[in-house]
Amino acid sequence: MKFSNTYACLDEVFFEKNRPTPVLDPQLFLWNSSLAEQLMIPNELKHDSVALAQAFSGNHILPGSEPIATAYAGHQFGHFAHQLGDGRAHLLGEVFDQFGQRWDIQLKGSGRTSFSRGGDGRCAVGPAVREFIMSEAMKALGVPTTRCLAVVTTGEPVFRETPLPGAIVTRVASSHLRIGTFQFFAARGDHQALKTLCDYTIERHYPELQEEGPNPYVLFVDKVIERLIRLVVEWMRVGFIHGVMNTDNTSLSGETIDYGPCAMMGSYDPQTVYSSIDTLGRYAFGNQPEIAQWNIARFAECLLPLINADTNKAIDQVGPIITEFPDRFRKVYMEMMGKKLGLTSFQQEDQKLLFSVLDRLKERSIDYTITFDLLTKSLMSEVATSQMKNELKECFDRWQKRINEQQATSQEVQELMRQHNPVVIPRNHHLEAVIQECEQTGKVTLAEKFIQVLRSPYEELAQTSQYQDPPSDGDEDYQTFCGT
Ligand code: AMP
Ligand code: MG
Repeated sequence: MKFSNTYACLDEVFFEKNRPTPVLDPQLFLWNSSLAEQLMIPNELKHDSVALAQAFSGNHILPGSEPIATAYAGHQFGHFAHQLGDGRAHLLGEVFDQFGQRWDIQLKGSGRTSFSRGGDGRCAVGPAVREFIMSEAMKALGVPTTRCLAVVTTGEPVFRETPLPGAIVTRVASSHLRIGTFQFFAARGDHQALKTLCDYTIERHYPELQEEGPNPYVLFVDKVIERLIRLVVEWMRVGFIHGVMNTDNTSLSGETIDYGPCAMMGSYDPQTVYSSIDTLGRYAFGNQPEIAQWNIARFAECLLPLINADTNKAIDQVGPIITEFPDRFRKVYMEMMGKKLGLTSFQQEDQKLLFSVLDRLKERSIDYTITFDLLTKSLMSEVATSQMKNELKECFDRWQKRINEQQATSQEVQELMRQHNPVVIPRNHHLEAVIQECEQTGKVTLAEKFIQVLRSPYEELAQTSQYQDPPSDGDEDYQTFCGT
């Protein structure tokens, strides 16, 4: 692998040079061969599982890699922590893929760093498998996300409530720049570092802003908003609940990052929360847009001194685009929901139809994914039609009438709906069963079968039907954990 290390070339305030702590007995557990192809992992490495386990546990540092732990701060559940940073992760460097795109290669669970505080720097196999499966599912669903190249078991236990088998996950991201990275320097009043960080981020993710003269910072916030809106709208489309939308888990590239306590919503309810630590429901499904706005406001605050030396003037300049966020979000969200309903163009009055469908789902605890899948099928199937008529009652008739009034053919509507409505999602109960099997037996058979189905979320394969059922208990007692 050919590493470049542009982040490690920045000033040392941005990171600490730190090598992974070797592990006892690294074994390759999950391997993402299509991502390996894309990243052009050399053949001699790709076909040698011992060498892969050595490399992606951090026991062997690949030539050209300069491992670092990056510095960041962040608001966690609304409270500012001025120093977080990679406490259990090492950025090995960056590589280019076959399309010329640059990716960060990061090990997570690879040992302590100076950012570890009380933590052990390690990760258990369960959360590593969760991140691998969920990110692969999200990628296939078309949601922007970081990826996983590998999960390597360490042969060492990690001690949580009970001893668990340890693992290291290799995360591939278009970068690990987060809102928290900017907050780290803003909180220290280090404007020079902030400016360097902005220049670096703009070059990496928003190169079009380089043409914007010496003060592109308001536009920078605007561009980040655009990506974040797209991301959260996509989460809402598939029923994804991130679970820990802290500013340190909000990526500047607009990718889903950090799959710790995430979950999928089954029956539709904006208040759905599964994270055991989110007792107030701050990161509930339906709060995600508002939290995105809150996070972006924290980002804009960091940039104020760069926008204008006069803070009041800076606020006047950037404030309006923060205030506009809800309207902007709503527009993209409505268009997306319109497509889920098969509407080629979403009109103002379609909101009523949409809300009445969603209200019905909420009132009767009806499954979100199954409903939109059946609505799609109802265009061709009488069975699905009568099922939906039964579930949605007069909402269904209104929907049918609206669909039939459109210019589009039934096939066009069906295609549009199919593109926006998955037939299968990584349901919590199936994911948990797979994780448990990995933990208890050390076998990946079930995980691989599940991943294969999740890689075709818009198409029913022979085995898809095994994973479409909603949980028998409605996920009533389901809880997720940060997994740290
Ligand atoms: P997360 O909940 O994964 O977003 O992590 C929040 C912060 O806690 C980050 O600074 C992590 O590096 C740190 N952290 C989480 N787990 C551990 C661990 N096992 N050892 C050291 N630091 C950790
Ligand atoms: Mg994190």
